[in-house]
Amino acid sequence: MSEYEIYALKYAGPFVRTGAHLMWYRDWDKIEKINYYIWCIKGAGETVVVDAGVTPQMAAVRELDGYVNPVEVLDRINVKADEVRHVIITHMHFDHAGGVSLFPRATFYIQEDEYRFWLENPIAARPPFKHVSDAASTTYLASLEGTDRLTLLNGDQQILPGIQCFLSPGHTVALQTVAVNTTRGTAIIGSDCAHVFRNYQEDWPSALIVDLVGWMQTYDKLRERVSSPDLLFPGHDLLLTENYPEIARDITRLV
Ligand SMILES: [Zn+2]
Repeated sequence: MSEYEIYALKYAGPFVRTGAHLMWYRDWDKIEKINYYIWCIKGAGETVVVDAGVTPQMAAVRELDGYVNPVEVLDRINVKADEVRHVIITHMHFDHAGGVSLFPRATFYIQEDEYRFWLENPIAARPPFKHVSDAASTTYLASLEGTDRLTLLNGDQQILPGIQCFLSPGHTVALQTVAVNTTRGTAIIGSDCAHVFRNYQEDWPSALIVDLVGWMQTYDKLRERVSSPDLLFPGHDLLLTENYPEIARDITRLV
């Protein structure tokens, strides 16, 4: 089977958060830091980007410290955003889907339930959901519906040989994680199923929960399918930049 490498690309941060944001309903008195990332999967002649980051316009509006346009970050490993063909969107929070317009030739892969929720469910317009979403990128994706640039997935599905999306609800209605065949077996880009490694280690979710039961079931599913616990990667941990070989500025090779 095709084998790939996985890169974490920091595009913004660090941001200060209370501990209770990283470890839900705990650690109120702790101050922690997180980064914003996208990921890149390379191998077998293919390049797949996981999540889209945010546009410069949104970064200015949201006053994101340490922001670098994801297009520039990708360029450091010779990936041209305007030539990328495959972009997997794990979920439609602004820090993951806000940059879809930076990839003008890509096909976007999203769980259909996630997409429909943000587009069609009136609950998505209520304050706690509106706060973490982005109207511009949602509209952009909606404009692609019915074309070959938007592929809506239903459950676990293969994108390319050795790259599979897993339905992984909890943090959002239908977040998806990305399982990748590597030299060390199956690694999983877990996105916000965990903000930090400690969530997996301590079997404890991070903040922004739509379904806590689903979240714990997602943990069971990911643990069963990943080849080793250290190949299950969180969405916002500073350790993604600190604990792995840096191959360009703010870019590390996870496996
Ligand atoms: Zn996130």
